[in-house]
Amino acid sequence: MNLNGKVAVVTGASRGIGRTIALCLAERGADMVVSTDKNVDGLKNTASEIENLGRKVLSVKMDVCSLKQCDDMMKQARDTFGKIDIMVNNAGITSDTVLLRMKEEQWDKVIEVNLKGTFNCTRAVIRYMFKQKYGRIINISSVTGAMGNPGQANYSASKAGIIGFTKAIAREYGHCNITVNAVAPGFIKTAMTDAIPEKEREAMTAQIPARRLGTPEDVANSVCFLASDLAGYITGHVIHVNGGLYT
Ligand code: NAP
Repeated sequence: MNLNGKVAVVTGASRGIGRTIALCLAERGADMVVSTDKNVDGLKNTASEIENLGRKVLSVKMDVCSLKQCDDMMKQARDTFGKIDIMVNNAGITSDTVLLRMKEEQWDKVIEVNLKGTFNCTRAVIRYMFKQKYGRIINISSVTGAMGNPGQANYSASKAGIIGFTKAIAREYGHCNITVNAVAPGFIKTAMTDAIPEKEREAMTAQIPARRLGTPEDVANSVCFLASDLAGYITGHVIHVNGGLYT
């Protein structure tokens, strides 16, 4: 998978899956735009690792909930690199509790970051991809968006929404050589899953046919494939990276 000469944007690249996706794209030759909301030190680490790989990098502190900040980031990216080939909508949060206890703010915040954030960044980047008649958009969904998960009504709804959004935009922009796909990770070993109590994590692992949590690299490899020219005829698709937990 050769991404030499490509320019990729990854949101939420300060840690976890986003950081690994950014490094994976850079290893394959892409120059990178990486962003985060608050964790500027984490983003600096990601950026310096990308530079060590010999790639150019632009780091942006921004909130995906703001369409203006998404617009500004894409403009900065285009002014710096002249184009944007690949967009990975990775930034995401959880705020778990059962429905009976879920506050309106918990619902709103998760939908705002995960679903509206994906809309905002895609809305901001599509004009450049439309003009250049080339684009690869990859949205990070979740197994919970396909199968649901107790305690995650807000998160599951946001991630299911991302799948519907992906399929709609794939149909809208297929004629412009823009592919739009989703990657739906299962339970992946990151800070997000480290926060789950040990006993619960063991019970989850027992349900996975592969009998292990996934790694950020498992997810990043699928993203790199979808970003590459090898996947040029795949659009509106969801790749499930979940060790067989749900297909
Ligand atoms: P993580 O370690 O919690 O990292 C989340 C990233 O998103 C951070 O860089 C964070 O930035 C950024 N972010 C959060 N809110 C933001 C906002 N409003 N604007 C911009 N950036 C924001 O999460 P992860 O486990 O790597 O997950 C990455 C993606 O994979 C998420 O979409 C998640 O839903 C999805 N996913 C994860 C798993 C899993 O098992 N871990 C499974 C399925 C899907 P700051 O650090 O600056 O806050």
